[in-house]
Amino acid sequence: MKKIAIFPGSFDPFTIGHEEIVKRGLSMFDTIIVAIGKNSSKKTMHSLEKRMELINKVFADEPRIEVDTYEGLTINYCQSKGAKFLLRGLRTAADFEYERAIAQMNKNLDHEIESVFLLTAPEHTPVCSTIVRDIFNNEGDISAFLPTNINMDDLK
Ligand code: ADP
Repeated sequence: MKKIAIFPGSFDPFTIGHEEIVKRGLSMFDTIIVAIGKNSSKKTMHSLEKRMELINKVFADEPRIEVDTYEGLTINYCQSKGAKFLLRGLRTAADFEYERAIAQMNKNLDHEIESVFLLTAPEHTPVCSTIVRDIFNNEGDISAFLPTNINMDDLK
């Protein structure tokens, strides 16, 4: 059976840290779906469509990676895609505590879906979408934090 993993998040913006987790996940899964959660209450840097466009560009040469959006419970979305795995990245102990609670609650909702965590590369530990977004909103250069084939011009 095909192993499908969902990599859910806001990806506002998608960073070099996200890219690394997805690429490493390819050694474990046949298909990874990068799934952008719709959250109407959050004020975002980019629209859902723009985030999809950017992530599609990052993985244009990788047919095993798909990009999608979803609304509602992540577990329901996993079920609708036939995905048995949820992929998440861990940077710090704070990430661990946050992810632990979500993963354990998700396990209650569906026992068949496993959350799988990859530790970030040391150099990507401080890369966080919220800070990257703040730098961008204040006209700073965020190119070092973006995936390898995305540049500042792509963000317009
Ligand atoms: P969320 O809004 O769900 O926190 P994010 O877009 O911030 O979504 O992150 C999605 C996933 O990517 C989470 O598992 C998060 O821990 C992980 N992640 C974010 N930044 C990094 C990074 N620099 N290195 C590794 N994983 C990361």
